[in-house]
Amino acid sequence: KTKTIEETIEFAKNLGNKLFPGAVITLEGDLGAGKTTFTKGIAQALHVNKTVNSPTFTIIKEYVGDLNLYHMDVYRLSDHLEDLGFDEYFYGEGVCVIEWASIIEDQIPRERLHINIFVQGEFERLIELVPNGTKYQKLCEVLFNE
Ligand code: ADP
Ligand code: MG
Repeated sequence: KTKTIEETIEFAKNLGNKLFPGAVITLEGDLGAGKTTFTKGIAQALHVNKTVNSPTFTIIKEYVGDLNLYHMDVYRLSDHLEDLGFDEYFYGEGVCVIEWASIIEDQIPRERLHINIFVQGEFERLIELVPNGTKYQKLCEVLFNE
C-alpha cells in the first residue's frame, strides 16, 4: 500500500533497480490510478533523464537509460490484433512497461510482472504484484525481503 505519490515512486524505483534486459511489466488500473506515476519511478531507477509522461497520442515512447525504457500506452488501440511491431520491444534488450496491457494481451509474452493498481482513497493506492515466470518470482522475493 502507498499513501502518497512519492511512496509509489519510491516503490517503483526499488523495483526498477532490480530489472534486467528484456523485462516486461504490465500495468492495469483505472484512469488516474497511477500507472504513469509508477512508470516514472521505474524511469528514475534506470536513470532516464527525460520526463516520462502519459503518451496520449503516442502508443510507444522510447527513453534512453541504463537499460532503455519502452513505455507503451495501448489504450487507444482500436483493435487488439493491431500489431505495431511490439515483438521488437518485448524480446529486445530494454525494459517494456505497458499500460492497459490487457488490450493486447495475446501479443504480450506470458512471462512478465503484472501489476494491478487499485485506488483506495485520494492518495491511497493498493499495488498488487503478480509475477509470471521464475525470473519475476525471484524479483518479487528480493523486492519484499530487503
Ligand atoms: P494512470 O496512468 O493510471 O492514468 P497517472 O499516474 O497518470 O495514472 O495519475 C495518477 C494520479 O493520481 C496523479 O494525479 C497522481 O498525482 C495521483 N496520486 C495520488 N496519490 C497517488 C499515489 N499514492 N500513487 C500514485 N499516484 C497518486
Ligand atoms: Mg497513464
